[in-house]
Amino acid sequence: MIEPCYVPSEPDLSLNGSAQAALHERAAAATRERCGREVFVRAVVEVSNYCRENCAYCGMRRDNRTLARYRAKHEQLAELLLDHRPSSVTDVNIQAGEDPVAVREVVLPLIRTLQRETTLGISVCLGTLTPELYGELHAAGANIYIMKFEVSDAMRYEMLEAPGTLNERLKNIRHLAQTGWKVSSGFIGGLPGQTAGDLVNNLRLASELPLHGCSVSPFVPGEDTPLAGFTPSDANWTLNAMAALRLMRPDWVIPAVSALNLATDDGYRRGLHAGANLTTINLTPTELREDYVIYKRERFIMTEERVLNAIAAEGLAPSRRSLAEFYRQGETREAVAAVL
Ligand code: SF4
Repeated sequence: MIEPCYVPSEPDLSLNGSAQAALHERAAAATRERCGREVFVRAVVEVSNYCRENCAYCGMRRDNRTLARYRAKHEQLAELLLDHRPSSVTDVNIQAGEDPVAVREVVLPLIRTLQRETTLGISVCLGTLTPELYGELHAAGANIYIMKFEVSDAMRYEMLEAPGTLNERLKNIRHLAQTGWKVSSGFIGGLPGQTAGDLVNNLRLASELPLHGCSVSPFVPGEDTPLAGFTPSDANWTLNAMAALRLMRPDWVIPAVSALNLATDDGYRRGLHAGANLTTINLTPTELREDYVIYKRERFIMTEERVLNAIAAEGLAPSRRSLAEFYRQGETREAVAAVL
C-alpha cells in the first residue's frame, strides 16, 4: 500500500541502525509497489570537461587550471554508442561541463545520429543554456533534462558559486518543464555545515518543482577545489534522503549515483535498497574519463557487470523499456484519464 503524503522529517533523515533499516525497507517497498522490480539502465557519455562555471564542489570548475580539458569527437561517441553499447542499455545520458561549444559541435550531431539510428531514450545534463539551445536539443530528439539545484538555500548556493543564482536555476527548471522536457533535478547530501533541517528544505523544494525525477549525491570533497580539505559526508545522510524522496514521491525516477560507492562500501546496492530505480553504466572512452573529474581522478566506474550485479543482488531486474518510453506511457495514461 503506497503511503499517502509522506512528509520528510529531520528525525527520519538522521536515522541509523534498525530504525534506518526500517525506513529503507519502506522506501524499497514503495518502489516495488509503484515501479515493480524494474530498474532502468542508462549509459552516460561525458563529452566535455570544459566549464564556464566555478562551483566550489566540482573539480571541473573553470578556476581549476590543473585539469587537462577535452572535447570528445562526435564520431567517436557515435561509433561507441551505435556499435559497442551493452545490450542492457535502453537510454543514454549525454553529459558535459557548461560548454555551449560542445553542445553545438558534439552533442547536437550525436543526438541526431542516435535519433536516426537507434531507439535509445536520450537525456542530457549540460547546464544552464539559452532557451534557443534547449529548443534545438529538444527538436533534435532529447527529452529528459537533468538540472540539479544542489542546495535550496539561496545564500549557500551563492557561497558555493553554483551557476547563476538559485532563482535563475529554478526559473530554468520551470522553463524546461513548460517547454516539453521531463526534468530531473538533484541536490547534495552532507555538504559542510548542512543540517537535517537543510535536507528537509531540499526535499521540500524538490517537491514544489515540476520534476519527474531527482537525485541525491553524497558530498565528496573534490581534489583541487575550495572544499578539498573538508570531511566527506556520512553516506547515511544521503541514503536517508533518498529513502525520504522515494516515500515522498513514489512516482519519480530516482538514480543510484556512482558516488555512493565513494561514500560507503556497497553504496550502490544500498542506494537501490533505499528507493533508487535508475542505474548508470559509464561508457565515456577510457582515455577521456580520467579528466572528467567532478570529485577525484580515482573514480569508481560503474561498468555493465557492476551495475547488473548490484541489480541482481537486490532481487531486481533491468528494465527492457527505456526511460523515455516509460514517460511516454505515463503521458498516454494521463491523457486517457483526462477524457474519461
Ligand atoms: S558542477 Fe557542472 S556547472 Fe558546476 S563546475 Fe562542475 S561541471 Fe561546471
